[in-house]
Amino acid sequence: MSKIYLDHAATTPLEPKVLKTMLPYFSEKFGNPMSVHSFGQEAVEAVDNARARIADFFGASPSEIIFTSGATESNNLTINGIIRAYYSVAHKNNERPHIITTKLEHHCVLNACKTVEKDRWAQVSYIAPDKEGIISIQDIEKNIQPNTILVSVMYVNNEIGTVQPIEEIGKMLKKINAERAKKNLTRIFFHTDATQAVNYFDCNVNKLAVDLLSMSGHKIYGPKGVGLLYIRKGTPIKRIQEGGEQEFSLRAGTHNVPGIVGLAEAISAINNDQQPKISKKIQALRDYLIKKVLEEIPNSYLNGSAEKRSPNNANFRFDNVEGEGLVLSLDMEGIAASTGSACSSGTLEPSHVLLSLGLKHEQAHGSLRITLGKNTTKGEINVLIKKLKEIVERLRKISGNVLSEFK
Ligand code: PMP
Repeated sequence: MSKIYLDHAATTPLEPKVLKTMLPYFSEKFGNPMSVHSFGQEAVEAVDNARARIADFFGASPSEIIFTSGATESNNLTINGIIRAYYSVAHKNNERPHIITTKLEHHCVLNACKTVEKDRWAQVSYIAPDKEGIISIQDIEKNIQPNTILVSVMYVNNEIGTVQPIEEIGKMLKKINAERAKKNLTRIFFHTDATQAVNYFDCNVNKLAVDLLSMSGHKIYGPKGVGLLYIRKGTPIKRIQEGGEQEFSLRAGTHNVPGIVGLAEAISAINNDQQPKISKKIQALRDYLIKKVLEEIPNSYLNGSAEKRSPNNANFRFDNVEGEGLVLSLDMEGIAASTGSACSSGTLEPSHVLLSLGLKHEQAHGSLRITLGKNTTKGEINVLIKKLKEIVERLRKISGNVLSEFK
């Protein structure tokens, strides 16, 4: 049985061309970029070259790109690093800073915010999306306080694929910051977690007017364990781990040279004429999948906006069916899908993203995330639809029988 992979939001397969560029940096070109000898120079050249290519993709300067181990680290560095920078200068009455984020962020942002709140380093406002999974710009604006220092809103949600109005939020904050400058109030910095956006959406940091942007290599057919944080020049941020002076003294630790080389290659592969064509193809398949599932499976629903969503994401819910049961049954048929984010599987808590849309606990438990990739075929989608119909029917029969026994 050939397996079908439909969990590209969890991770993507490494592109063979990317692997090829990485391989020499595991073996003959193994130098440490911080070493002064020729081995080190060879490595530092590779890192500098990768940084320049990546900066070009984001419309940034090379010195604004900080390599990290991935989006989790980049997001933690953003939240904790900005707070540390805030406390490094004196403030009136030792006032605590204020952060605005949303209820549907990835756990690495949400929990970093909850921790700084619990430790009383910052106050945090969590904005709820509408029932389509979209954040309102007005809601962000309404929550701004004189001590607000950071707004962090994800670009594309990893569970339901909804796309937030990052460019519009950036514009709004620019205006507000101009007003605040006149009143001598601290500037509000704007961060976006673009991990799920880089494959499909414009990530030019100037167009988006973001000061910080996070992403991970493995979501874009690149390697795992490497990512970056874009930090606009002049953004006050302090390192959160001590050690060497790597990455402009902002991120201590020996560079993951093969990873960085692979990240640059994966990003460059997006930056070509083929990308709009690939997105269109994926979106057409995804739309076909949504149409068929909603037509052919009774009491099935799409979670999140149908329009403002990533071209590769479909997130369904089925009345009286548990998402975990669906995922396990699909896996037995050789189809890999997910209930929500890979990072929260293993918990029996319903998805915080689905709850933030206003869904009830039992509705949030019945969800299935299908995320397509550039190699997904119509044949694979047809197999999924057929198997899904059978599985939903079977699971509903079982849950119906169990319920009737308790009548
Ligand atoms: N943010 C988002 C939106 C994600 O989808 C993920 C990965 N699921 C992360 C952050 C964390 O990425 P990583 O595990 O590569 O650090």
